[in-house]
Amino acid sequence: MIESYLGIDIGSISTKAVVIDINNNILASSYLWTEGNPIEAVKKVLKDLKKQLYNKDVKIVGVGTTGSARKLIGAMVNASIVKNEITAHAIGTLSVYPEVRTIIEIGGQDSKIILIKEGVVVDYAMNTLCAAGTGAFLSSQAKRLGIEVEDFGKMALSSTNPTPIAARCTVFAESDLVHKLQTGNSKKDIVAGLCESVAKNYLNNVARGKKIEKPIIFQGGVSKNIGVKRAFEKILETDIITDSNGHLMGALGVAILAKDEKKCEFDFDVAEKEFTTTAVNCGKCPNKCEIICIKENNKLIDSYGNRCERGAIAK
Ligand code: SF4
Repeated sequence: MIESYLGIDIGSISTKAVVIDINNNILASSYLWTEGNPIEAVKKVLKDLKKQLYNKDVKIVGVGTTGSARKLIGAMVNASIVKNEITAHAIGTLSVYPEVRTIIEIGGQDSKIILIKEGVVVDYAMNTLCAAGTGAFLSSQAKRLGIEVEDFGKMALSSTNPTPIAARCTVFAESDLVHKLQTGNSKKDIVAGLCESVAKNYLNNVARGKKIEKPIIFQGGVSKNIGVKRAFEKILETDIITDSNGHLMGALGVAILAKDEKKCEFDFDVAEKEFTTTAVNCGKCPNKCEIICIKENNKLIDSYGNRCERGAIAK
């Protein structure tokens, strides 16, 4: 029997999970859209993992969760450890790239920078309030341009003259993009300009003058976009590393952390459990965040959706 560890990273846009053995080898992995329903997303990844591990003599003895809905899913799967994204991503990335100094992470709805020295996180920053420069921003601009976001990278590389796009916030970016289209700029130049604006927005709003040391790893959903990778390389004048498993680093990290915890009971049949959710609006600022409350047997076990602590709901 192979003793193994499950790591789940539940973001607002995507849900990722890995099962690893004691030597951090990935035995199974799963990735899908959260679609506003982390419980259902996790049920689906668990069913997928169970299928991948069918007939393999694997027993899960430790479970870790990270990501925005980590507490909810931690309660749901009886996790041995629930950890923030910064630690999880750093541990996962360090396990593959022990020399890493800077992690650039751009996901669907947020982005972060993690600075590492001698294997220890020395500084970090997250940006969850500004959408300009995230995967969701690129997807909405792709829709506006009538092209698939998956084609963005290739298109951007074919441009020799990227169109500058004002991207300090989504509203500016959208009106500037329409203006640039109307003034005859080609789609490929606009797409290349958008990729550069994502990189610039990140460096101005997330990295904010922090010293970016090499080796630099670029991960998160947006790292799959070669146009944004090249834009970072152009601005920072250095090579950037991307990894085909870059989207799994958070899940990998929290699975590794679970190895140090007390063993826990885990059964894939948790995917059959029933939970209920309700939505309430936080009216404490104009953002009016929708906060989702999750209950098991009418008892609040977690809530999420608040973009700041003022909207947190006490259990
Ligand atoms: S949680 Fe409430 S206070 Fe915080 S950003 Fe959202 S609406 Fe504003």
